[in-house]
Amino acid sequence: MKEIQIGGLVSFTTIDYPGKLAAVIFLVGCPLRCAYCSNPHLLDVRDGEYDPEKVFDWLKERVGKLEAVVFSGGEALMQGDAVLEYMQRVKKLGFKIGLHTNGFYPEILKRASDTVDWIGLDYKATRNKYPELVGQNIAHDHMIKSLNIWLDTGKDFEVRITCDPRHITKLDLLEIANDLHTRGVKKIAIQKYIPHFEDETHTTTINERNQYFDDENLRNQINNSFESVIWRE
Ligand code: SF4
Repeated sequence: MKEIQIGGLVSFTTIDYPGKLAAVIFLVGCPLRCAYCSNPHLLDVRDGEYDPEKVFDWLKERVGKLEAVVFSGGEALMQGDAVLEYMQRVKKLGFKIGLHTNGFYPEILKRASDTVDWIGLDYKATRNKYPELVGQNIAHDHMIKSLNIWLDTGKDFEVRITCDPRHITKLDLLEIANDLHTRGVKKIAIQKYIPHFEDETHTTTINERNQYFDDENLRNQINNSFESVIWRE
């Protein structure tokens, strides 16, 4: 089996796994091409710059200092068995295992669900707008399958919505929130879109990016539907 391909590492974070001091491992490769992607250097499948065994040895030294290791990307589950096996090894060191995922690989998520303790799942747009945002027709359906699989585990998780004003209106955000509420989701995070790589044909204004966060009525409607809503600005 091919070993995992690691394209990045954050050695210490307090914001990527709820309530835990964590490291984040960024795996290369992603099946989507989101318009707002902040990690375009991680999208293509290629050899990673980091030696997985050296990273593992480094993690051994972090036992007792860190509490969790989060697998991110790209899309970590794209690496299938290689990432599942690596997660299992890291878990045996005593770390909680977190996963940031776009939900594109529900069957792999199911196989990972014994090992992974918490996920942050992206819900990127309404179903009809998913293809224009991510460049894939079936991504929304896969993400919903992943959501249902994780709901069945009973484990903790958060659904994240990044509010790119080019692809999400305030009404869309309400529609997504209603869908998540109906499906029984308890915790969501609404994230401000950050224009990392905008060109002249895709500019957004500060007001457009802030519109969801400045609308008290919208915030209250959404806040009232969930146990926890983080407005991540
Ligand atoms: S799923 Fe994440 S890594 Fe993949 S293209 Fe979208 S934003 Fe980038």
